[in-house]
Amino acid sequence: MGTDLEEIKSRLNIVDVLGEYLRLDKTGTNYRALCPFHNEKSPSFMVSEEKQIWHCFGCQKGGDIFSFVMEMEGLEFRDALRQLAEKAGVELKKVAPGTVEKKNRTLEILELATKFYEIQLWKGAGKEKIVNYLKERGLTEESIKLFRLGYAPSGWRNVLSFLLNRGYDVGEIMQTGLLVQKKDSEPIRNYETGTNLRTDTQIRSFADSDKFVDSNRYYDRFRDRIIFPICDYSGRVLGYSARVAPGGDESQAKYVNSPETEVYHKSKALYGIDKAKSEIKQKDFALLVEGNMDVIAASQAGIKNVVAVSGTALTPTQLDTLKRYTKNLKMLFDMDAAGEAATKKSLKLALEKNIAVQIVELPFGKDAADVAKNNPEKLRDAISKSKSAMQYLYDKAFGTFDSTASEGKRKISEALLEMIESLASEVEKSHWIKKLAQGLDVTEKALTTELKKAKLTNRTSVSQKTQEGEKVLTDDRQKIDILLEELTGLMLILPDVWRSMALKKEHHDYFFRDKLLKLMLDKGVEFNFDFNRLTENADRELKLRAEKLFFRKKFRLGLNNSLEEVSMEELPQELPGILAELKKETKKIKLVQITKDLKLAENRKDKAALEFLRGEFEKILGE
Ligand SMILES: [Zn+2]
Repeated sequence: MGTDLEEIKSRLNIVDVLGEYLRLDKTGTNYRALCPFHNEKSPSFMVSEEKQIWHCFGCQKGGDIFSFVMEMEGLEFRDALRQLAEKAGVELKKVAPGTVEKKNRTLEILELATKFYEIQLWKGAGKEKIVNYLKERGLTEESIKLFRLGYAPSGWRNVLSFLLNRGYDVGEIMQTGLLVQKKDSEPIRNYETGTNLRTDTQIRSFADSDKFVDSNRYYDRFRDRIIFPICDYSGRVLGYSARVAPGGDESQAKYVNSPETEVYHKSKALYGIDKAKSEIKQKDFALLVEGNMDVIAASQAGIKNVVAVSGTALTPTQLDTLKRYTKNLKMLFDMDAAGEAATKKSLKLALEKNIAVQIVELPFGKDAADVAKNNPEKLRDAISKSKSAMQYLYDKAFGTFDSTASEGKRKISEALLEMIESLASEVEKSHWIKKLAQGLDVTEKALTTELKKAKLTNRTSVSQKTQEGEKVLTDDRQKIDILLEELTGLMLILPDVWRSMALKKEHHDYFFRDKLLKLMLDKGVEFNFDFNRLTENADRELKLRAEKLFFRKKFRLGLNNSLEEVSMEELPQELPGILAELKKETKKIKLVQITKDLKLAENRKDKAALEFLRGEFEKILGE
């Protein structure tokens, strides 16, 4: 366990730490404030001194002092830890030396390999053809050097031999992702003579003669490729994206990337972030482009706040990184059919995270790198003329479908409601609903009904069927989920309720629909019905949910986002009511199910089934 973390937490009070940033008002045993992470007029940001956690009902963020300081100051966890340790007067213990040393060693090898590839580009095998090729693509020497492009020569053991000669062992080099390990079935090759070793005797005599016998099972991952180092925000090389060299083996993939390693995670990496971050902060927006070449070309053209992701869709982690520097994103993507699905996915994620997204359109049908090379002014112009993602999608939907025909109206509303639903701001939501209603000449009410439906299908992921039975089922599920949440909230606040529920063994199957509730029932005894033990042992998603339900139960959520703390005496009295309702609801769902099964049995003329189902029906009604 992270004892440093516990030590800091035990010395600092969340009310003091957050109180330095926010005006906290005491309400009952808790505190509330205006949320610093989203715009609001009435406070929905809650702090529990008792549990030492915070939660915002507006933007759904929450956590402890560390997550608050990270979010507030835009810090990495280590830095937040350092800052709070200082405040608490805790001297941080060194992290297990083995792991740090290992990680540093990996980074050291990657740095060395990057230098090797750079030398190969400027002075080695890539000197003529690769440098010229990059210049033809419009890159200057300065930007090639700034982005530390390199060249991996053809051959199987270039970087491997180089690093072995520097004293690293093959296991360490393997950790960097620079090598590929040969399968056992493949023949072992004597790289000095270039022949495959076939017999045991051959292999053994070779093994005796070669001090790097193990390394014969490994070879360079990148061969005859242009190397783009991928760095973290502070410029340390974590991995590579490698492009096939001009005239190289075109049957191979155009780009080969480093595999996931201890230091390189594809879902976190943002190409160019180290060079772009301060400019992103200054300009207060980030330009997101498709490829590495686009990043370098744009940066060379003076647009330095530019990054790219490997793969097409943004991940939540990448958005969190960007959010440290800005809340505004401009996307410049190819809008072909394949790119569009990924763009929509990224868009939805960004909107949900309350990042304002604009779309940059290049009317010339060229990629950013080409435009940046031939006419940087046009690129700057396109960026300044970007439109909000919603406006872009709106124009696009109305341009694609006929907004006067009923079929067209349906398609347009389907395409747009999905995005409107993702908007974090209620004001924006209502703005677009209004606009869409006007554009389609339908009532706003019809659209909000559709929106609610879309939400429902999203949540229950029940396929959209309008059959009466299905509909009832969906509505009931909603109700039962709310009841289960009420019950869970009660259990989180009152350990006695938790205990009594966990020890009673007569739970209905429906209780286990809820993951958090299931965990609490299964592990209640083990956790000693303790909220902190639960959140320490739950995964992130369940932890956040537990904190949210805890606060929600403690405060009644009224209309207009106003929250009122309930008195602790009232709470236990709610239990019988909730349980009775739950029983009623599960019964209802069962009856609907049986009715459906009865219909099926009737159609099949299955007498045995009919009899059984009728019996069940009677039994439930009789209870
Ligand atoms: Zn908030």
